[in-house]
Amino acid sequence: MSTKYNLRYNKLYGKKSDNMNKHKAKKHFGQNFLTDKNLLNKIVEEAGVENKDVIEIGPGMGALTQFLVKVASTVTAYEIDLDLKPVLNQLEKHNNNLTVKYEDILKTDIPNDKVYDVVANIPYNITSPIIFKLLESSNINSATLMVQKEVCDRITSKPGTKDYNALTVIINYYMEVTKVMNVSKKLFRPIPKVDSAVFKMRRREKELNDDEEKLFIEIVKSSFHQKRKTLLNNLSFSFEVNKEKINELLQKLNINSNERAENITLEQFIELTKIWNNI
Ligand code: SAH
Repeated sequence: MSTKYNLRYNKLYGKKSDNMNKHKAKKHFGQNFLTDKNLLNKIVEEAGVENKDVIEIGPGMGALTQFLVKVASTVTAYEIDLDLKPVLNQLEKHNNNLTVKYEDILKTDIPNDKVYDVVANIPYNITSPIIFKLLESSNINSATLMVQKEVCDRITSKPGTKDYNALTVIINYYMEVTKVMNVSKKLFRPIPKVDSAVFKMRRREKELNDDEEKLFIEIVKSSFHQKRKTLLNNLSFSFEVNKEKINELLQKLNINSNERAENITLEQFIELTKIWNNI
């Protein structure tokens, strides 16, 4: 680790935290640590988690954690890398509202005892499974997440743009999504190849029942299966249903049979799900 790197850490955490300077970032765990105090403050501010119960995914060396514990009621942090234990133990010792669990977030059950808000600079290699896990956990009220900039652009994109895809539609069904800010890669150590961005998602009221939601996800994923194909072709291929019957449904929703999924709004996908059983 370079001297410059050490100096930045000393500034952020205080000089006594020797352990922090010894940790070597692990690529396979998606470790790129945040170093900028103003940015960390801003993320916590935008998350709006005063007196809330917070879940953090991948606290790393506790850069974000130390700001979260100041405002949140409790912080439960999930960290896969046991080598970070000495650093996080210190933080836990000084903040009795912090609990660190050394577990893989994808393998653990998110506690359902309370409503939680998530704030995290997540490992980018498992972005989609993390987001799906949060969507499926109905007691997650909101999540403020740092992700790769391209992923944020996709999640916050509108119909008719190249970024709009199945993930966009599915996230926007469960959550109200807003972009918070772009973040330069220079604010991480080690500096990653990609730029980042922060977005916030807040749970919306359900418009479909549980069975319909499963069907909705299937319809959306199938519709985008082959981007160049029409909605009609993608749907009839995945569901093995007669094209005429699907076309009848599309006409009821005033959707042209040549339309592609990228031009279909969330509301239209919801309506299509509701009438799909009429086939
Ligand atoms: N939040 C810290 C670290 C971000 S790097 C900061 O901003 O500085 C991502 C973190 O996620 C690393 O600490 C990494 O060890 C952890 N991580 C990676 N995969 C994980 C998993 N499956 N479950 C929990 N934590 C994970």
